[in-house]
Amino acid sequence: MKYIGAHVSAAGGIKMAVIRAYELGATAFAFFTKNQRRWKSIPLTEIEILDFKSTCIKYKFSNSQILPHSSYLINLCHPEKELLKKSREAFIDELHRCQQLGLSYLNFHPGSFLQKFNEDKSLQLVSDSINIALEKVKNICVVIENTSGQGTNVGYCFEQLSKIIQKVDDKSRVGVCIDTCHLFSSGYDLRTKKDCENTFKLFENIIGFNYLKGMHLNDSKATFNSRLDRHHNLGKGNIGIIPFDWIMKQKEFENIPLILETIDSSLWKKEISLLQSI
Ligand SMILES: [Zn+2]
Ligand SMILES: [Zn+2]
Repeated sequence: MKYIGAHVSAAGGIKMAVIRAYELGATAFAFFTKNQRRWKSIPLTEIEILDFKSTCIKYKFSNSQILPHSSYLINLCHPEKELLKKSREAFIDELHRCQQLGLSYLNFHPGSFLQKFNEDKSLQLVSDSINIALEKVKNICVVIENTSGQGTNVGYCFEQLSKIIQKVDDKSRVGVCIDTCHLFSSGYDLRTKKDCENTFKLFENIIGFNYLKGMHLNDSKATFNSRLDRHHNLGKGNIGIIPFDWIMKQKEFENIPLILETIDSSLWKKEISLLQSI
């Protein structure tokens, strides 16, 4: 079964994310477990946790349909000691929140080296950060998102994601989330069926579908290989509708959250039902 949804707002309390997903007709959703632009967050209360869990049960969302996204402030390969420490603490705090909510995954961006390290050293640091976090918080699987490679972001090719995974001690608790917009702008073509087949054959050979824990379905405002991260609504950008039609027809994308992060949220309901109709 295909689980399709969007990254919904949790304004008004985290259980609202569940309700918003349900109202969209979604069978999956992503959300931030805290304010994504602040380092500190108020701990979740017992009531918030129970409310979230019972709302998920009420609207029939299981763990394999929910992919929380971590804060954009976190940089797990920050070249400055203090900020690396702060990032790791914030990452562990978010994993802990996911654990409290009874969730299985946390999606995050690997980080950026800010011209101070080389890429290999950064990838090693990301793996170190993951190992530290997995040691501290049990039962959660960390899900690395591919990036556009904008600025000094790492994780823009399958080889880099694979390098991070290779150095993670507990491979049963690490996975990847592939964002189609980031894929396209980092130089993996998706515009034709053949392109999709080639790109995901590479993915299978270098990383493997056993590590695929989710997808972000976005078209791209930026052009192919531009290394710019600019999302667009499905079929409105430079990728076009073909890969989304293709993904819906492949069994490899079953039973994982397929999440829209397209820019105009008023179109989500339409986009979800379009994908479901395929
Ligand atoms: Zn993301
Ligand atoms: Zn994304």
